[in-house]
Formats: sequence, structure tokens, C-alpha cells
Amino acid sequence: MTAPRLATIVDAELGLDGGMMMGVVPRPLWETVHPPDERNRIRLVSRCGVFSDAAAGRLWLFDVGVGRDWGAKSQAIYDFRYRGPDLRALLAGVGYDPDAVTDVLLSHLHFDHAGGIVVRGAAGAQRLAFPRARHHVQAAQWAWARAPTVRDAGSFRPDHLAVLEASGRLDEVDGPRSLDARVSVRVVSGHTPGMQLAQVRTDDGEALFLADLVPVWSHVRLPWITAHDHEPLRTIEDKRALLREAAEHGTTLLSGHDPSAPRARVRTAGDDMFEVETFATAEDR
Ligand SMILES: [Zn+2]
Repeated sequence: MTAPRLATIVDAELGLDGGMMMGVVPRPLWETVHPPDERNRIRLVSRCGVFSDAAAGRLWLFDVGVGRDWGAKSQAIYDFRYRGPDLRALLAGVGYDPDAVTDVLLSHLHFDHAGGIVVRGAAGAQRLAFPRARHHVQAAQWAWARAPTVRDAGSFRPDHLAVLEASGRLDEVDGPRSLDARVSVRVVSGHTPGMQLAQVRTDDGEALFLADLVPVWSHVRLPWITAHDHEPLRTIEDKRALLREAAEHGTTLLSGHDPSAPRARVRTAGDDMFEVETFATAEDR
């Protein structure tokens, strides 16, 4: 029997405003780590997790990248640099059958994590990129994204969410729970209500996909939180608890946005401080 494989794949690079990514942290502190371009954008990636569990007959995606359904205005703002035709092609390129994806686990519905749920057909009509997959979203995130506030409405794609809703492939998840013997979700809500983190039991130990709790490794510093977070103090509490736990258990952490390395382990380094040791494996693209 093939052992389960946990891989990561970068869908695209993008540029997001450095001040927005770092919240209250002054630019002199972050600009040496994340040099901004002439429009104050820092380079990030949009990274997905791929978990192939042949014994259970499941192929999981953890987030699906920015997708390709973007016009010139968004392109000008976010400077998307796509890694290939789309995520389906990228998966096929590393040996996964995109039509075999059984589960799409969305951490949350911000476009840089969920934009890839939709592709355009030959006639330009939108359809699901992974039509056979169940799409797991926290119920609280789904309700929020369908009626966002004026502050965060620009982070969601109502047209994409309508395609998912009409497909009948949406699975609303209520709180933390196991989705099967190897995959469970944790819930943290400081970034956006009902953000869920995929936790995977591999033969090498536990892995946790951090989504926007720790978007890049710089964010292991507790006060480094995006300006997007609607409850930053809650993010600090959740981040402290999860990083302490990960340090204790030697959990492999996966980053959704860090351009330098997909994986890391952390160690505690005094009160509220963590040291990060980043790495990549042959399964990371
Ligand atoms: Zn987000």
C-alpha cells in the first residue's frame, strides 16, 4: 500500500501591500525581511497543500490558490504571476489526476485561498475546478462570506461562491472536528470568522496548515498580524497557543504565503518568542 503523501504546490506569486500584511509593525522593521516594490507591495506566494491518502481513497487539497479568473484591474493591483495554466494543470504536472480530487478543504474564502475553486469553460462560463470534490468550509465562514462587511467585502468573490452554492458540492463544517482518520480541522477566528486549519496525521507525524494565522514565517512574532484581521487580539491568543503546542509536539507547520520556504518547525525561545527552522522536501513545488 502506498504511504500517504503530503505535498505543497505554489499556484501563483502575488504582491500584497506590505503595511496591510504587517499591521501595526512599522515599515523599518519589516522592509529588510520583505523588501517592498515601488508600490509598497511585498512578494508572496499562494500555496496549496495536497494530501494523497490512497488507503482511504481520498485526495485532498488544502486551499486552491488565487485561480485564473481575474481581469486587468485585479492583475494591476495584485501583480499575479501564475505558475502554470491553472491548478489542475499544475497538479497533473506532478503526477496527480485533478479529476481524482475528492476533498477541497478551504481554510477560508478570501480570494487568495479560494479563487481557484472556479475555472472558466470554453464559452467563458464559470464552473467548479474540481467538480467531484466535496468543498469543506466552516459554516461561520460561509455565512460571513455571503454577507461580508464593507471592510472586507473586497476579499471575497460572490460570483465564485454562487457557483459553489449552486453545485451542491458545499459541505458546511460546524467547529473543530475530524473529517476522517487522518484529517481534522482546528478553528481560529481572529483573521476572519470560522477560519479552519487543516491538521494532517502523516506517517512522519502531525502537520498543520497555518493559512492566515501565520501567513509568512515573520508572523511567528506574536504582534505581527495583518491589518486585515478583524480581531487581532484573538489572533495573538490563538497563535500563542498553537505555536506552543507545535513546539512541544514537533509539528510540521505549512505556510500558505511565505515565498522562501513551505515548511517549518518552531521552538520556544523565551516568553512569547519562537524560533523558526524552515525547510522544504522533495514533495514541495
Ligand atoms: Zn485571508
